[in-house]
Amino acid sequence: MARVAQALAPEGALARAWPEWRAREAQAAMAQAVAQTVEEGGALLVEAPAGSGKTLAYLLPWLLSGRRAVISTSTHVLQRQLAERDLPRLASATGQAVRVAVLKGRGRYVCLARLQAAVDMGPRIGAPAEHAWLRELLLWAERGGDGDLDQVAGVDTIAGLHGRVTSTSENCARQACARWAECHVERARRAAQAADVVVINHHVWLAELQRQRRGRPRLLPEVDVVVFDEAHALHGLRARLDAEVIEHTALQRLWADLTALADGPLRGLQAWRLLAHDGQVATRGLAQALGAAVSREGRQAWPLGDRQAPWRLATAVAAAQAALRASADADPRLGRLLERTRAAAAVLHTLLSSDDPAAVWLDWQSREDWACLRPAVENDALAAHALVTGTSLGARSVVHASATLGQDEALLWHRDALAVGADWSPRTLRLRVGDEDPGAAALYVPEGLPEPAEATHPQALAERIVPWIELLGGRCLVLATTRRAAQRLAQALQARGRPGWRVLLVGDKPTHAALQALRHAGGGAPTIVVACGALWQGIDVPGEALQLLVIDKLPFAPPDDPWLQRRLERARAVGADPFTSVQLADAAMALRQGAGRLIRRAGDRGLIVIGDVRLRRRAYGPALLAALPACRWLDTEGEVQAWLGELEALTRSSTTDRPSAS
Ligand code: SF4
Repeated sequence: MARVAQALAPEGALARAWPEWRAREAQAAMAQAVAQTVEEGGALLVEAPAGSGKTLAYLLPWLLSGRRAVISTSTHVLQRQLAERDLPRLASATGQAVRVAVLKGRGRYVCLARLQAAVDMGPRIGAPAEHAWLRELLLWAERGGDGDLDQVAGVDTIAGLHGRVTSTSENCARQACARWAECHVERARRAAQAADVVVINHHVWLAELQRQRRGRPRLLPEVDVVVFDEAHALHGLRARLDAEVIEHTALQRLWADLTALADGPLRGLQAWRLLAHDGQVATRGLAQALGAAVSREGRQAWPLGDRQAPWRLATAVAAAQAALRASADADPRLGRLLERTRAAAAVLHTLLSSDDPAAVWLDWQSREDWACLRPAVENDALAAHALVTGTSLGARSVVHASATLGQDEALLWHRDALAVGADWSPRTLRLRVGDEDPGAAALYVPEGLPEPAEATHPQALAERIVPWIELLGGRCLVLATTRRAAQRLAQALQARGRPGWRVLLVGDKPTHAALQALRHAGGGAPTIVVACGALWQGIDVPGEALQLLVIDKLPFAPPDDPWLQRRLERARAVGADPFTSVQLADAAMALRQGAGRLIRRAGDRGLIVIGDVRLRRRAYGPALLAALPACRWLDTEGEVQAWLGELEALTRSSTTDRPSAS
């Protein structure tokens, strides 16, 4: 702890290395708390607002301790930022040598064998440009580097391409593969085993825990310390932790791999093509039935009363299982395929045999992207413990850091949302930034809008914000609570906006492309990005590029979300008020995360508009407003105009003050 204090001192290593760097009180307090946890062991939860320097505050004590660590964060972008910018910079400033590895999911790396096969197949009819692109990709992937597809533009935008150039655990030939020695997936895994720190994302962490539960070898090394940055993002994974899951994409891959058997050396052993065809038809039938039955996206109770479509799929899965079992001795690949049918058979069996509507859940995004979950009957406290503690890697110390972990000093919301047993008692620290500028952001809740459930709400909100977007020349991010609301808002803004506006709906446009357009719009075409879902937490657009943040309505979770239902039951069981302790607390945290997209660094200025009159009319309004970052409240449209005028003048002067390129 003394070394941490020395490094942060006014004459310390950081001040010497970075002349512009200034010690911050909140950052030093967090660094000392992390140092104590690393030294003494145990768990620490830290809530530190944007701009408090929390990344350095957890990296520095770990780095100076000389111990091995896994750092898990919420996105690929943050992984790269940590590994390529924050860690090397800090290691150099403190004179520490550190081996850093980044590990992502298998699907983020080029599979050389499959990419080579795609190139060897030649161009598909009408797609010569795609074939040229694949050849370029192969050249790039063979040139060295880490094969990380996040560095390659376009791979997620061409339909079907991603699956042709990446592997899955099912179709990877491993040691039998001709490209094994140069395989990017294997190299990344070997590098992780040898590193001092492995930077992963939360999905990799979940996959690691699931591997361990199935008795498969670990991918991550033994470490002393685990840090969960953006720890609130673990909540979204919690419901899947102790569930059996069938994903639509996994079913499609299963049937594709059965079809492939019909063309290989195992052809003739079974009627592979027929089995696969029946499976594909049944999967499509279930997707269609679900698509007709659901009324919203996201997690929900099983929506089909009729059991015909799941019965057809269960029959196809059972037939495939029987064929694979009968021929399993012929080739080890058949045993692996058989294993892949296990979760589907288990979930479908429950679906067909149980009268409990909560026995199987649906997680629905679209006909191509859905999953069925069979949750454990009881909350699996052991699994939850493994999720939050890192003890499965041998870690003695774990740190959870985020800007939103709770509304009280005990940070109970984070623990409750993860449904960890009461025996987990981490230390907690809640920081405030002393020099937070309450004048940086202003908040306006427009009067007179329809209630958010009314069909006219998106149009009315769009009409209200169009003049403000015009005044600022775009620089606008709209966060909607559902995909449908985002689509309707984007349509309304297109219809009511001015010619030349770029209204970019995330989903129609890849996230990174939409955000790049917003970041670099400058004085060009006014740009408005409309987003929903995970982007409430994961968007970082600092500076003048974002000055107007619009939130369509209060982010209450759908009341029929079965995971929410479980949490409400648990709250009732301990005598807590379920609405206040769960639903309102969740909404407050989600609102704070969304509002936190506006002010990303010192000097940022902007307006937050929340288009939900319930904030003004309902008794819970003040509690939600209190959860927002410090900001000025505007009461009238006149005040909004005046504030936007100030912003516009600031932008104009900073643009004209800038030296010209010539
Ligand atoms: S070992 Fe697996 S992932 Fe690696 S190149 Fe071969 S098939 Fe692809």
